[in-house]
Amino acid sequence: MSYSHLKSEAYINEERQYFAPTGRIQYADIGFVKGNGATLTDMDGNTYIDLLASASVANVGHCHPKVVNAIKKQAEQLVHNTPAYFTHNLVLELQKRLTNITPGQFPKKVIFGNSGSDANDGMIKYARAYTGRQNIITFTDAYHGSTFGAITESAVSLNMRRNMGPFVPGIYQLPFPDENEKLPQEDEIAFSERYLDHFRLAFRTYLPPEEVAAILIEPIQGDGGIRQLPFYFVKELYALCQEHGILFMVDEVNQGLARSGKMWSIDHFDIAPDLLATGKSLAAGLPLSAIVGRAEIMNSLPAPGHCFTTAGNPICCAASLATLDIIEEEELMEKSACDGEYVKAKLQAMQEVYPFIKRVRMYGLNGGIELVVEENNQSANTDCANKVMTYLLNHGVIMITLAGNILRFQPPLVITREELDRALSLLEAAFKAYRNGEI
Ligand code: PLP
Repeated sequence: MSYSHLKSEAYINEERQYFAPTGRIQYADIGFVKGNGATLTDMDGNTYIDLLASASVANVGHCHPKVVNAIKKQAEQLVHNTPAYFTHNLVLELQKRLTNITPGQFPKKVIFGNSGSDANDGMIKYARAYTGRQNIITFTDAYHGSTFGAITESAVSLNMRRNMGPFVPGIYQLPFPDENEKLPQEDEIAFSERYLDHFRLAFRTYLPPEEVAAILIEPIQGDGGIRQLPFYFVKELYALCQEHGILFMVDEVNQGLARSGKMWSIDHFDIAPDLLATGKSLAAGLPLSAIVGRAEIMNSLPAPGHCFTTAGNPICCAASLATLDIIEEEELMEKSACDGEYVKAKLQAMQEVYPFIKRVRMYGLNGGIELVVEENNQSANTDCANKVMTYLLNHGVIMITLAGNILRFQPPLVITREELDRALSLLEAAFKAYRNGEI
């Protein structure tokens, strides 16, 4: 196996950086032609361990035979249906299934879309229609998608929002409680209270709570750096929502479907949200998203108010039902939790050796490794992150960075122990090469 076609980092920076809206290096010359479990094979025959899970769409792995068979079988029956007028047995089955596996014992309804972005846009519509209020609150550093509502809800990168405004009115971002901002004397409660005060201040001064339709959270923020909201903070925020009749919405597009060691990342908080958005791995990479919500909220908008021609496509629904079966049969929630602990221990051991590893965050197989310059200089080390990422790519491991200095560790949940060990030992080799000035 040779990765010699991959040139130096300088070459990648200058010539391959063809389209980098988030400021990340993107590798235009690499094209994948085959996927199998946790691996991808490129046009030149090189195989890579995919620590990106193809942007979280490959929780059950690439080309899982069950998913492939479900797709083939359905393609022979009916490729498209018209959701505005008709339904389909697989649509009905998947709606029922999602109703059952999402938190909350109340009556629910499910509507399908094509992307995580449109699901988040849809939740804005339902929240406004149901409450008769306009305003939505999200968090700084959040990423909720690229359609107008979803990008307005996002604040992960200025570049993502340049030159396209004005945005959807009535959407506000309040500060995300990042543990790096925790003061030395603060415990979780004091830290959370300081950030809850931003909400209380907003409610007192410029955003009357009776005019707020919903708060949208990603319980474990993905693109913002793999950061879990403090438990106390989420519980109190939920209580605040209940007190003021504000809907509690969660974006599970990235963190749902067993990624965090539970089916949904909100399950770590034991809260049943009013509206939940899912996508990405929902149909193992085929375009399918869903909003699952309280029936009375979902009834507030007539069906054509949130409708896409190809939403709930039967092939996507077939792939999705197979995906949900695999998560159950292969116990991927449990595997994610257990493998996550294994990886965390290995990364923490590396942290002992390499002082530029500031933090290791793992929630299931869902990790962020935060890099700083050194123990006495805690500024973000983007140089190390970029060099490690390039080293790994040159050695057959796909890994990306978040926020410039955080390495994202989120392989397909079906990854084998051997593949994990190989990826971890290459990661350690990259850290060593960086420390020794070899890269
Ligand atoms: N929500 C979250 C948390 C995401 O991470 C993403 C995509 O990265 C989206 C929504 C948007 O999903 P899509 O790209 O499928 O529109």
